[in-house]
Amino acid sequence: MKQYDVVIVGAGPAGIFTAIELKRRAPEKTVLLIDEGSEIDHRACPARKTGKCVHCDPCNIMSGWSGAGAFSDGKLSLSEEVGGNITEYMSVDKARELIAYADSIYTDFGAPDVVHGLHDKRVEEIEYECSRYNIHLVKCPVRHMGTEYSFETLRAMYVWLIAQEGFTFRQHTRAEQILIEGGVVKGVVLHTRGEEPETVAADVVVAAPGRGGADWLTKVAHENDIATRNNEVDIGVRVEVPNAVMDHLTKPLYEAKMIYYSDTFENKVRTFCMNPGGIVSEEHYEGGLAVVNGHSYHEAARRTTNTNFAMLVSSKFTEPFNNPIEYGQYIAQLSNMLTGGGIMVQRLGDLLQGRRTDASRLARSTTIPTLKTAVPGDLSFVLPHRHLTSIVEALKAFDHVAPGLYSKNTLLYGVEVKFYSSKVEVGDHFESAVKGLYAIGDGAGITRGLMQASVTGVVVARDIVK
Ligand SMILES: Cc1cc2nc3c(=O)[nH]c(=O)nc-3n(C[C@H](O)[C@H](O)[C@H](O)COP(=O)(O)OP(=O)(O)OC[C@H]3O[C@@H](n4cnc5c(N)ncnc54)[C@H](O)[C@@H]3O)c2cc1C
Repeated sequence: MKQYDVVIVGAGPAGIFTAIELKRRAPEKTVLLIDEGSEIDHRACPARKTGKCVHCDPCNIMSGWSGAGAFSDGKLSLSEEVGGNITEYMSVDKARELIAYADSIYTDFGAPDVVHGLHDKRVEEIEYECSRYNIHLVKCPVRHMGTEYSFETLRAMYVWLIAQEGFTFRQHTRAEQILIEGGVVKGVVLHTRGEEPETVAADVVVAAPGRGGADWLTKVAHENDIATRNNEVDIGVRVEVPNAVMDHLTKPLYEAKMIYYSDTFENKVRTFCMNPGGIVSEEHYEGGLAVVNGHSYHEAARRTTNTNFAMLVSSKFTEPFNNPIEYGQYIAQLSNMLTGGGIMVQRLGDLLQGRRTDASRLARSTTIPTLKTAVPGDLSFVLPHRHLTSIVEALKAFDHVAPGLYSKNTLLYGVEVKFYSSKVEVGDHFESAVKGLYAIGDGAGITRGLMQASVTGVVVARDIVK
């Protein structure tokens, strides 16, 4: 049986940063990093070229070297307030120090130098404008890699890591089971595509399976008496408008992270994942569930004339209901059902008039949709009244700081759902109750973005070599 010092499950940012920090601090350690997806140069999403999802198994957007980060918009959020809950595990000062350190690794491997939204006079003016209309502006500097630099930066990490002695990466390899005896981790049962399952021994196993592997990790936790807690579910739409509507916010901030508590329900509505000059895209979860997303390129030549961003309503369910992920999936399924399996698009004007957007109305829209496969429809058949009302009220409020947003030609794509995995109970260094078993990143319900996922990897590596 092969023996490693550390086996890492999942080659997303959390797993990659664990490996990089281990190899920087303890080059003698033997490290096996596995992923059920492909190595980076073999990853390609056909839908990005043809606009049509062919349901790769596993999904090339979510799996493989770089995980969900490979084709992401590569926005590195440089604030501990954004992209996860790491401050539940460490002080704010420590979180800031680690974010700065992880950011320096990104730039060492080629991330662009420019940081947007550093505090300047214009940002203060926007903050004041927001506060006049009961909008909270979250100030978060952003290093925008763009889809192309994100891919290249994470690829450079791959090239560096595979050149390190004692480091092995295995693609198309799934962790089936984590072996635990007497509360101590012993190894992993692996299954490489086309081969027989195999057991490898390890003193430490780092589970970093991302959102795609969250169900698997929850199962591992339940089988081994590791507690889990429900997270909230964020449901909403992706909004698309001409760049001009958002330019005065996105030019100084890159991403305007705004929060509004809706008038009728006082629900938290927030903007998320803003892509100036971007493209609305379709992504698929296990079982083929289509949900909307968005991204943009760093290079000016690849930019579009539209800006897109998500508007999400957060819901946290209390007893007796404890399945927020199924609730979100159910709503996404409704939208898929009405469109024949794809993404729905509606003009805000049609929604407000209580009518469907059809092909002819969409053709008259002055905002030209960037997701060409989106099917015109009626979001009021899909989203609960609470969500729809809260989104409309927030759009109206945001129109004060981005005039033109509450326009009849604003496009709403549905649905955007952010499922946050159940939070796996871990200590300050992300070690679970099982000795030697760490759980990190999005899959452990701790993070929701590249930067914080990367930070969890750094923390674990330092704990392993301490
Ligand atoms: C389209 C898109 C755009 C995004 N844009 C941004 C952005 O601009 N900025 C930002 O901060 N965040 C963004 N995100 C989110 C960001 O990509 C994630 O937060 C981040 O990748 C999480 O890192 P992770 O390492 O925890 O998990 P992941 O990146 O999801 O990686 C987990 C890996 O584990 C593998 N895996 C799962 N289970 C197993 C198993 N049992 N055995 C072996 N391998 C397994 C998966 O194949 C996957 O490769 C975006 C996400 C998407 C989908």
